[in-house]
Amino acid sequence: MQEKKQAVIYADNAATTRLRQEALEAMLPYFTEQYGNASTLYHLGRQAHRALEQARKTVANGIGAGPMELCFTSGGTESDNWAVRGTMYRLKKQRKTHLITSVIEHHAVLHCAERLEKEGFSVTYLPVTGEGAVRPEDLEAAIRPETGLVSVMYANNETGVIQPVDALAGICRKRGILFHTDAVQAAGILPIDVKRQKIDLLSMSAHKFGGPKGIGVLYIHRGALPENLLEGGGQERGHRSGTENVASAVGMAAAFSCALQEMEEKAARLRRMRDEIEKLLLEIPGSRVNGGGAERLPGTLNISFEGVDGQSLLLNLDLLGVAASSGSACNSGSMTPSHVLLAMGVPYRTAHGSLRLSFGSENREEEVPVIAEAVRKALERTGGL
Ligand code: PLP
Repeated sequence: MQEKKQAVIYADNAATTRLRQEALEAMLPYFTEQYGNASTLYHLGRQAHRALEQARKTVANGIGAGPMELCFTSGGTESDNWAVRGTMYRLKKQRKTHLITSVIEHHAVLHCAERLEKEGFSVTYLPVTGEGAVRPEDLEAAIRPETGLVSVMYANNETGVIQPVDALAGICRKRGILFHTDAVQAAGILPIDVKRQKIDLLSMSAHKFGGPKGIGVLYIHRGALPENLLEGGGQERGHRSGTENVASAVGMAAAFSCALQEMEEKAARLRRMRDEIEKLLLEIPGSRVNGGGAERLPGTLNISFEGVDGQSLLLNLDLLGVAASSGSACNSGSMTPSHVLLAMGVPYRTAHGSLRLSFGSENREEEVPVIAEAVRKALERTGGL
């Protein structure tokens, strides 16, 4: 018997997004006729090379960088690893062995920091306010003569809280310290200008803004080149080996162009939807918004329901046709409450009952009351109402 398909409202765009049609169409020829290896010299290879370089230019332009300052990677995780570990390995030779990061980073950064500690580096983890933001004065206080790199994310993946990147980067530039930001959640949603913002290294991932999974970039400001993590055929000007993923790079560039074009209109629409669902859900007794008093990504809402099991809430929402998350996609399978919410001082029991709704290009305003009703029903089923 065939399983009956239920219409799904997808409200988990911070986890990933659907591939945009424009990106798919741009990619298709590079899987079929134009399958050449971009590092070969014959016509087929040169065609692929041209497409790759055009994609690099498009993405670079979109963040105010030069094309030679971007390297394609396999996504946000690799870009973060390369920026954090690669930079510290290089700086070790100059006795710069201290890294500053924050307690709310994605595990792609946090686990690198933990590994560096095991390897003999020292790490300071900046705290956050109750609203989930790093304070520039805490960065000032944490800097030591041997500080080489500061890595603080652009916007948090669980709460959507936007970090004071300009202020942090400004402090670093003045002190001659490199500044990396994980902009995986911000790219394609917020305007970025790496030069104006004094950012030295910036990670992006295509699948968060309608591009394919498994591709991203690391922006590297002149003089901030991290040590290679991948050795091999010397692709990406010798900095990141591996046969170039031409189709995905082309798809990333197409999706990024679309995201930039629709940025303003989309932000206004998503903010309206987020504010409306927030209002409806705050009517539920025992609910509280996490990071609600801070500047946030327009389409992200993190809300807790006192005494509710977040996992059961998610499973019930799924049965009701709504896909959402209880935190970052990477740890939603685990039962420990989010490190981000705990770092904000959210009590354990409250953090445990948290729900993240994240809207994207495809969400429509009519979905808001349907989602709110589904959350109420799911809470009833889990005993939270
Ligand atoms: N950094 C942040 C803030 C993220 O949200 C994610 C993905 O969830 C990553 C890094 C990892 O990116 P990728 O999935 O491209 O490896």
